[in-house]
Amino acid sequence: MTNTQAAPQNSHESSLSSGQRDSDSIIEVRNPATGEVAGTVAIASAEQVGATADALRRAQPEWEAIGADGRRKWLLALQDWVLDHAEELADAIQSESAKPRIDARVEIAFAVDQLGYWARHAGKFLADQHPAPHTPLMRVKRLTTVYQPYPVVGVITPWNFPLGMGIADLVPALAAGAAVLHKPSEVTPLTPLVLERGWAEIGAPPVFAVVSGRGDTGRAVIDNVDYVQFTGSVPTGQKIGVACAERMLPYSLELGGKDPAIVLADADLDRAAYGIAYGALVNAGQLCISIERVYVEAAVYDAFVDKLVAHVKELRLGQDDRDCRFDVGALANETQLGIVERHVNEAISAGAKALTGGRATGVGTFFEPTVLVDVDHTMSCITEETFGPTIPVMKVAGEAEAIALANDSVFGLSATVWTRDRARAQRIARRLNVGAVNINDSVINLFNFTIPHGGWGKSGTGYRWGGANGVRKYCRQKAITAPALPTQKKELLWFPYSPGNFGIMESAMRALSARGLRRFGLGGAGKS
Ligand code: NAD
Repeated sequence: MTNTQAAPQNSHESSLSSGQRDSDSIIEVRNPATGEVAGTVAIASAEQVGATADALRRAQPEWEAIGADGRRKWLLALQDWVLDHAEELADAIQSESAKPRIDARVEIAFAVDQLGYWARHAGKFLADQHPAPHTPLMRVKRLTTVYQPYPVVGVITPWNFPLGMGIADLVPALAAGAAVLHKPSEVTPLTPLVLERGWAEIGAPPVFAVVSGRGDTGRAVIDNVDYVQFTGSVPTGQKIGVACAERMLPYSLELGGKDPAIVLADADLDRAAYGIAYGALVNAGQLCISIERVYVEAAVYDAFVDKLVAHVKELRLGQDDRDCRFDVGALANETQLGIVERHVNEAISAGAKALTGGRATGVGTFFEPTVLVDVDHTMSCITEETFGPTIPVMKVAGEAEAIALANDSVFGLSATVWTRDRARAQRIARRLNVGAVNINDSVINLFNFTIPHGGWGKSGTGYRWGGANGVRKYCRQKAITAPALPTQKKELLWFPYSPGNFGIMESAMRALSARGLRRFGLGGAGKS
């Protein structure tokens, strides 16, 4: 369990005086598995954040002006750079998160996919729209909807995907023509600096910058941008909403979750066990759409639990390096380890059983992949977001109880349903109070950019992706009307008012919009 990876260095580091470590001006980043220092970053002050945002604001008009075709060139050049620096990026990710190599490489594959998709499709999504008028009376107008980017978009991200979390939002924002100011988590600030270096190395216009720091730096970002895209916890998301409201800023919040899985009696139990184990334990469970509760129909409960436990017992826990020997890595930090330990210990004290796992290993922040049974909705492992490698499983009488329990949560991010009956799965999906449902699969909605990703309830507000909406969300919309026919000197409604002219207009409008005799001014409230 040694970390052999080179730690990326922050460009600000040379200006630091020796002896300054983890203070108001510096963050020392440690590998959570080994405690080794992975790097240090200088905290950007409010003034530095303001100056960085000003520089982005100055560069953005040209970025907008080159159009989607011009931007595609740079985004695809960054895609090349990411592919050419995949090992370096994966090293950086692992150095600060201690995740398995495959989990780190998935972030890079995700980045490549994001860059390719938004680069190639943004032009189509941002093209002017010419909607047909809603009424024949307006056919005299040519209508246009124009999408113009917010000049500077602030992207504030958590630590669970040091590369992927930023990529998920900064790529569509850049593709939309906005400049992006990214404030990554103080827990994993190193990888975003590698990406920022890549943007500079390809010679792209200076419309993407990273500022390092904690909450104060995030607050300074909100003070200086035109749109805030936030991913993180519910309490921070609520503060961000308030701060944005004070500045009248639009924002989108992607927050926590407590995703349920429903296993019905007719499910392929092997696939359900493998899929739920992956959905719950990938990235050591530190995934917003991690499966955190499983409801299993009584008829197959024992068989399913046996398969799940057998599979989870096979998983390899440890500090991975480039040779991909482990499936589950460490937790991001001691705070996260503390939450997982508390949830498991509280459940066991209240009568739950850990059929496998249940303890921290004592090395770094590793916690054993854990299957909990005999849990209920009074326990923190079911009601609070755990964000760790635990799978609490409950037996239910049937579909109705499963849906009721799945919906008994303040969160509503996503869910999974496991059954061979496709119609039943679709029916259940529509009854779950969540922003996404994967049928007979887990996590996969995150790899589909033509559908929206967003939470219901306390899991957030707004959506990322969803095809055209993925870039249009970073744009202000402008409506333009222009005459479609030669114009006259005056329109009927213009001054001076004339009951006769108005009457002609009103009659036409009513004839086209109302129903029955009211169309002709006869009968009921429409009688004139
Ligand atoms: P967090 O809320 O503590 O921090 C997130 C970011 O906000 C960090 O960069 C932090 O420095 C910054 N921040 C903190 N206070 C701020 C303030 N007042 N103003 C501006 N910025 C501020 O979250 P975390 O612990 O880093 O991440 C874990 C959480 O993220 C979990 O709840 C998880 O579910 C959630 N998450 C959600 C999604 C999603 O898409 N819904 C994806 C990944 C993670």
